[in-house]
Amino acid sequence: MNLAWPLVTMLAGVGLFGGSDSLDGAAEARPPAGAIAPWSPDTIRARLAHLPEQTATLKGLVEQARARQLDPACPLATVTVLDNDENEVFSFGSLAFGQVAASGQEAMDARLATWKSEIEKKEQAIEKRFVTPPTGKFYEAIVPDTLDLADRAALAINCLTGALDPDYGYELYFVARFNADPPYMHHEASGLPTNNPKFAESLPMMRLMSGSTQNLDIERRMMVRTLALIADDGLYYAPLAGRPWHHTWHRADDDFANVYGNGRLLLALMAWFQYDGNPLWQEYGQGIVHGLRRVAQFQGDRAYFPDPHIGESFSYPRSGYPANLPEPTDGGFGIPMYFAGVIRALAKWADMTGDQDALDFARRLANYVRQPRVWTPGAELAGVTGAERGHFSGHFHAHVAALRGLLEYAMVADDAELKAFVRSGYEYARNFGLSRIGWFPENTATGQYCEACCTADMVALAIKLGDAGVGDYWEDVDGYVRNQLVEQQLIRTDLLEKLAASSPPHRATPPRETDDRVIERNLGGFAGHGDIATLPNTWIMHCCTGNGSQALYYAWDGVVRENGQGSAQIHLLLNRASPWLDLDSYLPYEGKVVIKNRAAKRISVRIPAWVARREVRSRIGSRLVPADWIGNYLVYDNLKSGDTIEIKFPMVETTTKATLEGKTHTLRFRGNTLVGFSSQPAERGVGIRDGKLVLPGSGRAVAEGVTVTDAQVTVDAKGNAEAGIMLRWQDSRNFLLAIYANGGVYFHEIADGNPGAFLDFVPAPGVGENIHLVVQVDGSEAVLTVTDGTKTATTKHTITGINKAGGVGLFHNKEPAQMFDNFRVADLQGNTIFEDQFNESDDARSRWKFVDDRGSGPNDYPIYQRDHLRSNKAPMVNKSRYVLDRPIERPSRKKDER
Ligand SMILES: [Zn+2]
Repeated sequence: MNLAWPLVTMLAGVGLFGGSDSLDGAAEARPPAGAIAPWSPDTIRARLAHLPEQTATLKGLVEQARARQLDPACPLATVTVLDNDENEVFSFGSLAFGQVAASGQEAMDARLATWKSEIEKKEQAIEKRFVTPPTGKFYEAIVPDTLDLADRAALAINCLTGALDPDYGYELYFVARFNADPPYMHHEASGLPTNNPKFAESLPMMRLMSGSTQNLDIERRMMVRTLALIADDGLYYAPLAGRPWHHTWHRADDDFANVYGNGRLLLALMAWFQYDGNPLWQEYGQGIVHGLRRVAQFQGDRAYFPDPHIGESFSYPRSGYPANLPEPTDGGFGIPMYFAGVIRALAKWADMTGDQDALDFARRLANYVRQPRVWTPGAELAGVTGAERGHFSGHFHAHVAALRGLLEYAMVADDAELKAFVRSGYEYARNFGLSRIGWFPENTATGQYCEACCTADMVALAIKLGDAGVGDYWEDVDGYVRNQLVEQQLIRTDLLEKLAASSPPHRATPPRETDDRVIERNLGGFAGHGDIATLPNTWIMHCCTGNGSQALYYAWDGVVRENGQGSAQIHLLLNRASPWLDLDSYLPYEGKVVIKNRAAKRISVRIPAWVARREVRSRIGSRLVPADWIGNYLVYDNLKSGDTIEIKFPMVETTTKATLEGKTHTLRFRGNTLVGFSSQPAERGVGIRDGKLVLPGSGRAVAEGVTVTDAQVTVDAKGNAEAGIMLRWQDSRNFLLAIYANGGVYFHEIADGNPGAFLDFVPAPGVGENIHLVVQVDGSEAVLTVTDGTKTATTKHTITGINKAGGVGLFHNKEPAQMFDNFRVADLQGNTIFEDQFNESDDARSRWKFVDDRGSGPNDYPIYQRDHLRSNKAPMVNKSRYVLDRPIERPSRKKDER
């Protein structure tokens, strides 16, 4: 049983990515099955015991490994990252390779047979109560061929139904990987309990937007199974039986109900109720509300859920919680993430049904989430109390989702102070990443990618803040939706096929993995990670498909709304058909929108901030009409059915500079649409300063004109910072790295951007302030030594993959900055090939190439390929438009309107 390497691969993640908590870390770095003999628990303990005290993240790993005593019966390793005061910063499990222990197999088989017959009986009863979904009207129209969110919704349905596994209860494959030939999908513990409910909520929204009837049968089977998994206690459980990947996060010997998954399912049931009106959804919803209350702990004016680390985070095992569970402490991820959806669902439930107990429960959970431990920014100016202003650090999506939950509660409870807290938190969140285009980091730490969930939450939050009456963020929404949100949706089969074809071969191992039509089935899904120009390591984690598609809905719903009395408001100038009017948008080709009125008496149109107001011209039919502004809205009154309003204004193209993690990009916009950008070379203090080569944060410098296979490289560096030497460097994604970091010396063979495991880690305890590194590569033998003149550590590694001649350079990843000196490359006979003491004048960079650490490779899906948008004439297209008046997720109405 391979219990050792998950810990080791997590070490790799910490070393190279600065503690990235990507759920993908373990799976990325896995060795092929059977390729590496597992270390024994004793070996791991011995190796980890030497790690230095100051390395907080690694200390966390050690403590966790000791606490769990590496139980040989448990194939899982849970990694808890602690700070130096022993506070839990973040905890997650190895998502790799949990398997049911062989000894338990017979019992499992018996349990599976009984379970299957029970569930099928329940399914038959439930299906009888399903109703025919509503249908709207299709009609043909010639419209500008510009961004149409209804098209995106139709594509999302393809993935929301395609990524399900019909052989295993329509559980979604949580991960899809396109950097493999053939591409494959795989299951994870969090699929059914936490993420199927997100798909369940998205589906009625996408149907309503697009009228697509694709895979209605699959959707129905999934919904039937979902309800059948709800137990008599009201909660929705992921069953132990029939889920061989039940253990891949935390060990679970029982069915478990994830509290967040139950919250998300409650939201899904309400969406279905709003869509087809079937009372069945509300009945099951009531059960979830009761069930969640039963498993919550009430403490004064607060309520919380404990986390027994069973199955998924914050899950309730069917047999009950273990005794004496402590209060949760993980304010960086666990508390905000897992409580967020419950608060949002309870508040919405209270709004829909008038259930005041549910609202009180939401209030107590909200009080818990308001704790300062959840709102702890990395740094704050004196005089600013971040905990009272929604400032945060850690997992971005978790905190923004928590803000969404708090806002939903504040709206239903009319809590103005809490609304202001959420607005402040939103505006703080907007400081991260490149907010103008909706690029928000997975974590607030450096070295992050944009998780589609982050963009999705920001879209939802920005819209809801307007609905709550504490801001007008439609301009933000326009930028988020037109750019990163739609760019992270995978829509090009040809690109996915191309990158899969240039990827390493992969043989899928069923039932956990499948390679069955993976591109076809996942088209329309949302990529897990977005960089500036690419979707790196192109993959999907399907939380992003659930949340991303819902953001499409919120934006689409926000394009035009009607108040029930003939007054329609247009907030976003995007194509949309509706029962009240049709909007044709010529943006960003032309500054022009055409509104074809059906039923509105009054139409208000928000004009984007970049438009010069005095240049706006409106016509109704052929009649020029004077501008009547209310705020940012142009208002047209006394309209008749059939009126056509044409609004024209000059298109504005702007160029702006924006810096992300020290790198400055030049962005070219037409209106709010990013049509192209260029990235400047690193402008962040990288370079030759005061006789040293300085690499602050993440940086790589390659010596110009050097190409060698075998060499000896020496360099001086500071002992308190990472110091790496790159050899056989092909590009930013392929090289051999010899590195002093994390309290020792070791190697990485970086292939296609994948760092793989720590290789041959040898601790270097107590090395001093000034260090000297020597690495020698001779064929497949590599030796790295670090010394401070007194203490010395040496590691040897046999190179398996990086064999070609290539460049030589210096590498650094994490603060504090490294200052290299006396760099020398020699051949194996000792003859100097390249030498630099860095004594030239500052900024004399001519001998060095400072390379992008995120260079895209052949295995990245390119995004922002938008040159065509710079034309001044919108192409037209004949398309089928769909209309159904059935809002889901509208702002809370006043009680007398209900
Ligand atoms: Zn996600």
